[in-house]
Amino acid sequence: MSDCIFCKIVAGEIPAQVVHRGAGMVAFEDVAPKADVHVLVVPERHLESLRDVAELTPAEAKGMLDFVAETARKLSLDDYRVIVNVGPGGGQTVFHLHWHVLGGKLPVFG
Ligand code: 5GP
Ligand code: ZN
Repeated sequence: MSDCIFCKIVAGEIPAQVVHRGAGMVAFEDVAPKADVHVLVVPERHLESLRDVAELTPAEAKGMLDFVAETARKLSLDDYRVIVNVGPGGGQTVFHLHWHVLGGKLPVFG
């Protein structure tokens, strides 16, 4: 999508600290980290939110989960938190599906 920030990061049109890339997925550092480690994991393909996950094939959906776990391993995180905000009511502000991977000292949740 032409006006999507994360599509622009995927395309290299907006700079980001990319930490892992492959299999149609990209992981990059959150510009405003909420924990010692805060990385966003996104599919290269634009999906508005997790609500649209059925648009992925089963293999793509499994690949996405594998990539989230691989990214945490690559960041040397043993224990960590994964969050997906869905819709404005769920705290979503960027409407390209993304997984927050948070590690280190974590914010109090809820
Ligand atoms: P959401 O609230 O949609 O679940 O999370 C969006 C996240 O994207 C926020 O944590 C925010 O800090 C991050 N973010 C917003 N704009 C940018 C950007 O241009 N670059 C990067 N790296 N992160 C961004
Ligand atoms: Zn997008």
